[in-house]
Amino acid sequence: ALTSQTTTTAPPASGTPRDIRNFIGGDFVDGVAGFDKIDPVDGAVIGRVHEAGRHEVDRAVAAARAAFDGPWGRMSVGDRATLLRRIADAIERRFDDLVAAEVGDTGKPETLARDLDVARAAMNFRSFADTVASTGLDSFLTELADGRRALNYAIRKPLGVVAIIVPWNLPLLLLTWKLAPALASGNTVVIKPSEETPSSATLLAEILSEAGVPDGVVNVVHGFGEDSAGAFLTGHPGIDGVTFTGETSTGSAIMRAVAPRVRPVSFELGGKNAAVVFADADLDAAIAGLARSTYLNTGQVCLCTERIYVERPIFDEMAAGLAEQARRLRLGRPENPATTTGPLISQAHRAKVLSYFDLAREEGATVLAGGGVPTLGDGLDGGSWIEPTLWSGLDNSNRAVREEVFGPVAAIIPFDTEAEAIALANDTDYGLAAVTWTSDLTRGHRVAQRMRTGMSWVNTWYLRDLRSPFGGMGLSGIGREGGHHSLEFYTEPTNVCVQL
Ligand code: NAD
Repeated sequence: ALTSQTTTTAPPASGTPRDIRNFIGGDFVDGVAGFDKIDPVDGAVIGRVHEAGRHEVDRAVAAARAAFDGPWGRMSVGDRATLLRRIADAIERRFDDLVAAEVGDTGKPETLARDLDVARAAMNFRSFADTVASTGLDSFLTELADGRRALNYAIRKPLGVVAIIVPWNLPLLLLTWKLAPALASGNTVVIKPSEETPSSATLLAEILSEAGVPDGVVNVVHGFGEDSAGAFLTGHPGIDGVTFTGETSTGSAIMRAVAPRVRPVSFELGGKNAAVVFADADLDAAIAGLARSTYLNTGQVCLCTERIYVERPIFDEMAAGLAEQARRLRLGRPENPATTTGPLISQAHRAKVLSYFDLAREEGATVLAGGGVPTLGDGLDGGSWIEPTLWSGLDNSNRAVREEVFGPVAAIIPFDTEAEAIALANDTDYGLAAVTWTSDLTRGHRVAQRMRTGMSWVNTWYLRDLRSPFGGMGLSGIGREGGHHSLEFYTEPTNVCVQL
C-alpha cells in the first residue's frame, strides 16, 4: 500500500534530484545500487535511480505471481474494462505531473509530451478497455459423419506474469501500449523501464495504485539490461512471457534468455524506414510530412524516416525544401512553446549519432542541412543537442543508408521508375514502416501494398488507429500489437469441446 513516506515520484522542487525507487507488491523499495538520471537538456543530475538487483527482481516476480493467483486472476472481463477506464481518468487527472516526468527524463518539447505521449497513454487504456470488452473467439457447431454433434468454443486465459521491457524514446506511450492489453487480459506484470527514462513508469505505478489496481499486479524494477534488472527479469524462471520494444540486438539477447524455457515473445524492434515520393505528389504536403517523419522527437521514433527516395524530376526541389524545413526547426528548452525539437536522449546516444555523421561524410555524403552539434547558449550546451540533418549523395550500398541511426537525419536519394522505388525501399533487413507520397491513389495503394513492412502509410505518417496491427517484419520484430492482435499475445486460448 502507498504511504506518503514511500511515495517519492511527485515532481521535484526545481533543482532537487529525486529518489526514483522500485515499486514492488504495492510499496516503493530501495535498490542495491544507484545511478544518476541526467537531464539531456543541460546535463544536470535530476534524479537518483534505485537499481534493482536479483533479489528485488525475485521479489517483484513473486509479488506478481501472488497477485495473479489472488482475486485479480478471478476478476471478470467487465470489471477489468471498468478499471482500465478508471486508470485512463486517473492519468488525465495527473496529466501535468506525467508531462513533467516525461519532459524531465527526455528533454522533449512539452507540447509533444502533452499531445503525443501522455494523451496516448490515456487512450491506450480506453482503447483496450473497448477491445477486451468486445472481442470474442471462434465457436463452431461441429457435425461428424457418424451423426454426432459437438460445440467447440475457445476461451482466453491470461499468460500469467508478463515481463514488460521498454525503451526511452516514447517511454509512457510504449509502456502503456503494452500494459493496457496485458492488464485487460488479466495478467500481472513486472515492468523494466529504460535506465534513461525511469520517471513516468514510477509515477504511473503510483497512479495505478490510486486508481485501484491491487498490490502486486503492476511492479516496476529499475536498472540496465545486461547483468542488471533487464537480464535478471528476462532470465527469470517465474515469468510467462516477455513483451519488448527496443533495439534488434537486445531482442536477440532476450530471445536467448527465454529460449531454455520456451517463453513467448512479442518484439517491436528497430527500423530503417523508407519514404517514396512520386513526382505527382502534393509537394508542399510531402515536404511538411517528411519533415515530421524525419525529425519528430529528434528522429527518435521507431517509425521515423531515414531513407527518402524521390522521383528524379522533383529531386532538387524536394531536397531544397526539406533542407529548409530542417534548418527552420527550433531547438530549445522544452517549456518554450516555440520549441519544436529537443535534444537526443543522452551524450552516449549523441556520440553514436555523430559517428554516423562522420561515416556518412566518409562515404561521400553531401550535407544539405545540419551535420553537427549546435551552439545554443542559454545554459544548454551541457545537453545532448544535435542539428537536424539531411544527406544527399549516398545510395543503398552505404552503411549510413543501411543501419539505423535513430537520430534526426535522413538520406535523400533519386529514383526513375516505380519498380526501382519499391526495390530500393525494400532493400533492407528491417521491415517496420514505409510512406508513399503520390496524388495517384491507385498507385498509392499499389506501392503501399508492395512495401515489405508491417505499416505502410500513404500521404501521411504515424496516423494511428489503435485497433489496427502495429509491428514489423524481418529485423523489425515478431508479432503485432493493437486491438485483438495484442490480446493474442497476452492470452492463451483454450478450446472446449462439448458433445451435444
Ligand atoms: P535498447 O534495446 O537499448 O533498450 C530497451 C530496453 O531494453 C531498456 O529498458 C534496456 O535497459 C533493456 N535491455 C537492454 N539490454 C537488455 C538485456 N540484455 N536484457 C533485458 N533487457 C535489456 O533500446 P533503446 O536504445 O532504449 O531504444 C531505441 C531502440 O528502440 C531503437 O532501435 C528503436 O528503433 C527501437 N524502438 C522500436 C519501436 C517499435 O515499435 N518497433 C518503438 C520504439 C523504439
